[in-house]
Amino acid sequence: MAFSALTHLECSRTGERYDAEKVQGTSAAGAPLLARYDLERVRETVTREEIASRAPDLWRYHELLPVRAEENIVSLGEGMTPLLNLPNYAKQIGLSRLLMKDEGLVPTGTFKARGAAVGVSRASELGVRGVAMPTNGNAGAAWALYAARAGMASLIAMPVDAPAITRAECHAAGSELYLVDGLIGDAGKLIGAAVAERDGYQDVSTLKEPYRLEGKKTMGYEIVEQLGWRMPDVILYPTGGGVGIIGIYKALREMVELGWVTGPLPRLVAVQATGCAPIVEAFKNGARESEPFPDAKTVAFGITVPKALGDFLVLEGVYDTGGTAIAVTDEDLLAAQVELATAEGTFICPEGAACFVAAKQLREAGWLGEDDEVVVLNTGTGVKYPETVAVDVPTLAKDGRIPAR
Ligand SMILES: *Cc1c(COP(=O)(O)O)cnc(C)c1O
Repeated sequence: MAFSALTHLECSRTGERYDAEKVQGTSAAGAPLLARYDLERVRETVTREEIASRAPDLWRYHELLPVRAEENIVSLGEGMTPLLNLPNYAKQIGLSRLLMKDEGLVPTGTFKARGAAVGVSRASELGVRGVAMPTNGNAGAAWALYAARAGMASLIAMPVDAPAITRAECHAAGSELYLVDGLIGDAGKLIGAAVAERDGYQDVSTLKEPYRLEGKKTMGYEIVEQLGWRMPDVILYPTGGGVGIIGIYKALREMVELGWVTGPLPRLVAVQATGCAPIVEAFKNGARESEPFPDAKTVAFGITVPKALGDFLVLEGVYDTGGTAIAVTDEDLLAAQVELATAEGTFICPEGAACFVAAKQLREAGWLGEDDEVVVLNTGTGVKYPETVAVDVPTLAKDGRIPAR
């Protein structure tokens, strides 16, 4: 069996085939390209037991990833994050089993490292010299750092309001970084124009190249493997560009086809902030695509995407699995960030916190049953957002006293 079983790329709208051995962007229809594999051959030659015996990183699924040669892997040790049981918070919100896939533990502190590891590895394998992207911060930081590890250049543009730490990460990685007085879509236009004028650079904007999605889909593989090759009832995901939820859906379907897992797919829940909820609006209207969300703004910066290129794929995953889409307020998600740290000792990111608010509200509404096994994706560590927790504590004089208890 070859290291990768990648066969071709496929237009997500028309099904048209594309050559996977060339650097590719979107399809002729302007839609994302999806990587396809010889799943039958993988099914015949690779067992779950063999996978389980491999190193604990996302490359353990290498047959189902696009990198052809092992020596082309660019890795910082990403993947196989813990699937933590959260019994205290589960009890508070009336669930019997609540698990959190904690992506705060990957390099760069967010799950963006998964997409960057696979995307940069494959781009480098195909001879790309520089990667260019607009970002809300975390993706840019991850791609800049993985590009540095690969010896590639990176060109990043992010809104001036993006979390300061991500700016520092790009700068430290030696990236060519620009701040844009606008939103991620504005940064995207600038990047597109710059790439058109440069040789050897690829526009790796969200879903404008096929392999970031492949890196992110490994979250789905890991959840199932960590549950003992079983699927949970529900998965909640903080949705911006949607790559994570589309990737998880793709992974689940691949695993069913591989015969690695059986039964109904988990209901997929797209969680957004009320300040930027285009997918939720579309879902409410029973639409297959979203409309650009006006005046987008939320503290959960990673999910500030007013119009995602892959919106129709997110909605497909939600509809097909009997899932739902729900928006929560900044106030509630900031409160949940503190509640989780207090109840479970996990300091999560605002985007992840949004999913816990959603779980609570869906339980209250009866959409989640007490016995549903629920998995929440915490997409990053709270440590990357030091400004989100308001800390109001007393300052003591040097010769003061700590109150007796
Ligand atoms: C990018 C990001 C998201 C949204 O991810 P998508 O897969 O693009 O929907 C969620 N959380 C954090 C922390 C992010 O950085």
